[in-house]
Amino acid sequence: MPRLSEVIAALETLWPAEWAESWDAVGTVVGDPDQEVARVLFAVDPVQEIVDEAVKLGADLLVTHHPLYLRGTTTVAASTFKGRVVHTLIKNDIALHVAHTNADRADPGVSDALAGALDLRVVRPLVPDPTDPEGRRGLGRVCELDHPLTVRELAARAAERLPATTQGIRIAGDPEAQVRTVAVSGGSGDSLLDDVRAAGVDAFLTADLRHHPASEFTADRAHSPLALLDAAHWATEWPWCELAAAQLDEISDRHGWDLRVHVSKTVTDPWTAHAASAPTQTPGAPN
Ligand SMILES: [Zn+2]
Repeated sequence: MPRLSEVIAALETLWPAEWAESWDAVGTVVGDPDQEVARVLFAVDPVQEIVDEAVKLGADLLVTHHPLYLRGTTTVAASTFKGRVVHTLIKNDIALHVAHTNADRADPGVSDALAGALDLRVVRPLVPDPTDPEGRRGLGRVCELDHPLTVRELAARAAERLPATTQGIRIAGDPEAQVRTVAVSGGSGDSLLDDVRAAGVDAFLTADLRHHPASEFTADRAHSPLALLDAAHWATEWPWCELAAAQLDEISDRHGWDLRVHVSKTVTDPWTAHAASAPTQTPGAPN
């Protein structure tokens, strides 16, 4: 049975910490390097629900995409929700390791998993990592479709293939426009809109798109007739858990470790319900 330090060293080959953004907080949050690891759980969010699942499963290591602490803290008291997470982990001998923007940037990374879930052919990173001479790593991915789809059809495919959320997929732009090329970015993609425009793709699938950037983006039709597809943040990153679990499985086989690797199916999207507007209801219109 491998020790935590050996498993972490293997994970570091997939997602070296130096690939993370400077503001990020990746790596091991909780764990004794000498503890033995037999069972690993992958999830997007290090929240109590997921930690409770790890306890129930008998996991020795929880690997999440999102950091537990992104900024400094002065307390891990169990009276705070993050402190309770820390307490539960330590009391149950479960280590926590985070691979966030280093996993975004990796090849394959978070956006490759998203593209793979939708059967999109990855052509290149949307924003290549300048430190990668091969140009394979970076943020987001530019993809091609084997057969063109309308924006509406692409959104339907995303709604069908990504884990179900109350939001589903929102579309900005013409739902009947043809899509041959699409940029994808797991997680919040607001900051990549200029790169998407420069890439000249027909559509962009991401999460957390806000009113003003989306409005400005779709209004500028002279430069960009492209459509935006907005999914739930958690749903766009969840496919990475399956990819990462398969990668660790392969490493485990290679080392003869016989690790049991699991992917959490718990929905940690914070949005729990959705009320559709009445079709005829517009501001000021009589009911
Ligand atoms: Zn995220």
